[in-house]
Amino acid sequence: MLHPLQIDRAELFLVRLPLKFRFETSFGVQTAKSIPLLVLHGADHTGTGGEVGLGEGVMEDAPMFREETTVGALHLLRDLFLPAVLGQPFLNPQHLTQKLSGFRGNPMAKAMLETAAWDLWARTLGVPLGRLLGGVREQVAVGVSLGIQASEAATVEAVQTHLEQGYRRIKLKIKPGWDVRPVSAVRAAFPDIALTVDANSAYTLADTRTFQNLDAYTLDYIEQPLAYDDLVDHATLQRRIQTPLCLDESIVNAAAARKALALDAGRVINVKLGRVGGVAEGLRVHDVAQAFGVPVWCGGMLESGIGRALNIHLSTLPGFTKPGDTASASRYWERDVIHELLEMVDGFQAVPTGPGLGVTLDREFVEKTASERWSVEAGH
Ligand code: MG
Repeated sequence: MLHPLQIDRAELFLVRLPLKFRFETSFGVQTAKSIPLLVLHGADHTGTGGEVGLGEGVMEDAPMFREETTVGALHLLRDLFLPAVLGQPFLNPQHLTQKLSGFRGNPMAKAMLETAAWDLWARTLGVPLGRLLGGVREQVAVGVSLGIQASEAATVEAVQTHLEQGYRRIKLKIKPGWDVRPVSAVRAAFPDIALTVDANSAYTLADTRTFQNLDAYTLDYIEQPLAYDDLVDHATLQRRIQTPLCLDESIVNAAAARKALALDAGRVINVKLGRVGGVAEGLRVHDVAQAFGVPVWCGGMLESGIGRALNIHLSTLPGFTKPGDTASASRYWERDVIHELLEMVDGFQAVPTGPGLGVTLDREFVEKTASERWSVEAGH
């Protein structure tokens, strides 16, 4: 028998978790994270209770990284996206997301529903999500993204601490005026580590000399130096420097990935499922990169355990050959929204082995913490 995918009810929560550290990037300083959560309740075909599917939104309160916002996404899910799919049988998640194809843009809001539908689907089939997607790993290598520190000495110290914890790649956030100096200091202290930088679109081609100077420090890649919606200037910059560019913000779907790689606008891709609209499009980005012989890795958006579990499953795919941002949950939060502890051991995260994401919602904590809560039912 086919396993029809049917969602009878959905719950939306908005929780706000304090970060354990002050996270500074070229956007500004962050000390907490608003996290929208989605719980899909599958139809009860067996009489023993339907499965659930869990989704997390990676949009932010303000449109800093991309254009979407938390409030906007919750509105779209509650009033448009969920009513479009609730109560109907679908063959699979791709079939379900066709119902959203008439709505333009808003990939992070769509991904929140789409990824939860994949979780529900995988749980219904009784297989871990990574295996359902064609994953080949039982553990994934983990890197860490370090925010802008107060000084070179503080940067070196932060790197030292995280290397001791086992992280397999160090990424430094940079911004104009804070780039070559911290990189030079870290490289002098640690000549052989896998080291990268992420500018989050804070530069222009007028800064080409800065990136030429960074060539001296054998960075694994330089992430998204130029505009968030650009490909052409990145291709120009890539011609002028030796270090591979990695694209994050600019890769909004598989077509953008194909164009970027055809232009040689980057030689590494950071895959974020929220940014590209979900699992199905993320797989297509992965496949495009594979066709070009370009490595990918999974970037982080300060996710709670639901998004982190999703990223770990995604990172089991063959093309994810560089460490991702799937750091230990305890690095970020005093208490996570799931029961399981997703903790790195010796630089690797074990892939959860249960069906779907393989994690369970800490409902008591989420209900106690949530500032907003909605239930959406079929036919309402
Ligand atoms: Mg990035």
